[in-house]
Amino acid sequence: MKAARKTRSAKSEHPPKKKARNDDRPYLLLQAIENASDLISMTDLDQNVTFVNRAFLEAFGYSEQEVLGLPVRKVVSPDNPQFLHDELTKKLREGGSWKGEVICVRRDGTEFSLRFSVGPTRNEQGEVTGAFAIAQDVTAQKQAEEKLKQSEAQLRTLLNDAARLSELVEILQSCQSTDEAYRVAERALRTLLPTRSGCICVTSESRNIVEVVAKWGDELSTKLTFSPDDCWALRRGKIHIVDDAASPLLCAHIAGAPGSAFLCAPLAAQGETLGVFHLEALPSKNGSPSIESLAGKASAVAERISLALANLKLREALRRQSIRDPLTGLFNRRYMEETLERELSRAARKELSVALLMCDIDHFKRFNDTFGHQAGDVLLRALGDFLSQRTRGQDVACRYGGEEFVIILVESPLDAAIKRADIFREEVKHLSVQHAGQLLGTISLSIGVSAFPTHGKDAGNLLHAADSALYRAKAEGRDRVVLANA
Ligand code: GH3
Ligand code: MG
Ligand code: MG
Repeated sequence: MKAARKTRSAKSEHPPKKKARNDDRPYLLLQAIENASDLISMTDLDQNVTFVNRAFLEAFGYSEQEVLGLPVRKVVSPDNPQFLHDELTKKLREGGSWKGEVICVRRDGTEFSLRFSVGPTRNEQGEVTGAFAIAQDVTAQKQAEEKLKQSEAQLRTLLNDAARLSELVEILQSCQSTDEAYRVAERALRTLLPTRSGCICVTSESRNIVEVVAKWGDELSTKLTFSPDDCWALRRGKIHIVDDAASPLLCAHIAGAPGSAFLCAPLAAQGETLGVFHLEALPSKNGSPSIESLAGKASAVAERISLALANLKLREALRRQSIRDPLTGLFNRRYMEETLERELSRAARKELSVALLMCDIDHFKRFNDTFGHQAGDVLLRALGDFLSQRTRGQDVACRYGGEEFVIILVESPLDAAIKRADIFREEVKHLSVQHAGQLLGTISLSIGVSAFPTHGKDAGNLLHAADSALYRAKAEGRDRVVLANA
């Protein structure tokens, strides 16, 4: 049925409507073109304008008289060498077509984007007489695309930053010490926050000094140590931003750099103030982001650093407690024994010597009886300071128990160890300590010395040998150094 009807209608060529349409067609077509929302134009073979519709005139802001006969190039995009270049003109003359986007200029000089579709016009003989162009305004679309691109880029930066920040937190958490964490933060924050410079400042245990512990970038205007009262962020417990070095609200720890902007964010965790995160930026007109725009990111960074630092401090405190004697600050016995084992196996591999000094305060009971137990503690602490100052980094000074101390002298030959022991013994006699306004009496030391490999191969034997020598020092009258029996 359908096929039959189709064939019939194809054959009949709409006989009843034919006449009316033929009469009306040029008029209707012209109306349609004239009133179309697209911009329609026609040119002759020399690309001079022969027709433009209303939308075209409205879009460009010209009257019809102003554009008819003008080269179309001059009307549409006068200073654009890409538009209607010779090659394209030739192609259109030869009946070719072209599609593309052109940045056009209105009569008032403002720019907008048109997407053109250009094809040939031909006469009844089929010869090319010029070109016919339809164009749509794609400015809004292009702006939307541009905006989308920008927000995609922003999102990428944001995600990138978030990833880098969480990576930083992870690394900070695996740091072994706060010092290591400061070095890591220095490197990471240099790139994470696009400012001229910045630093992390930490409040001292006594809470009266804030000190720069990590810094990056150039021209840091803050002092390297300052009072907590010098920082508005620390005083108010919140982020503080100043974008004018002449402002009365500039923190006192900043030796003003004119034209710079500053940000301080407090570092705090679990209710404890840890320090300040400080940033310095160039004026935002130089293309760098303004310091205000970094406030959110800076707060996030400060919060993460605070948590990581609080964790590290806690871990350091626990570690310290586990290896140090609380009264003297010297290493404890367990740490000394572990270190001695390690040093002995290293010395055995490398054929080095290790010496041990076992020291005991003479008549310390008497000292306590005379000055009181508290004064005795003060003296033990002073002796702790003395021993840690007199030992090198790789040596280990330990409180072995009560008023006994063991010192491991790494890579020290026996004769050098005896000499050092004697210097200790002599110097200790001049240790002058005060307690409760009273100058305490002096003490003397008895010291037993043993060394690897002469007096033993393992820690137990060496400690025993030094202890026996110490016992003999006591027996022989105290205040002396005695070498272990070979
Ligand atoms: P010597 O070693 O010369 O034989 O005599 P001494 O009096 O030092 O020896 P003794 O072993 O009899 O006494 C050790 C004293 O050290 C006993 C104790 O009062 C004192 N002592 C041990 N630990 C501490 C401490 O932590 N604080 C104070 N104040 N005294 C301590
Ligand atoms: Mg003793
Ligand atoms: Mg003693």
